[in-house]
Amino acid sequence: MKIPGTRSLAERWPELAKEFDVERNAPLTAADVSARSFRRVWWSSETCGHSWQDSPRGRTGRMPRDCQLCGGGDTPFVVDDPNARVRFDNAHRAFGGTGV
Ligand SMILES: [Zn+2]
Repeated sequence: MKIPGTRSLAERWPELAKEFDVERNAPLTAADVSARSFRRVWWSSETCGHSWQDSPRGRTGRMPRDCQLCGGGDTPFVVDDPNARVRFDNAHRAFGGTGV
């Protein structure tokens, strides 16, 4: 199920493809997703241990986003309300807890 005529995430961003969460995205793999796709997929970082969803495009565009739970990139969750981040972290922890 390779993508014809496009550069897949695995080909174009091999370093980023390492953070592609194979288990949660199954049966999708980094070779099946275009590096320019806006489709939201799961990522997991070995550096911080977080799992989150973002599009490959969001992570490889002009303003590449890193782990959104660590505040990397222009996450829409970090706004002027200081409690927004706390609420998001709590919600995410609850959500992450449902993982396999
Ligand atoms: Zn993180």
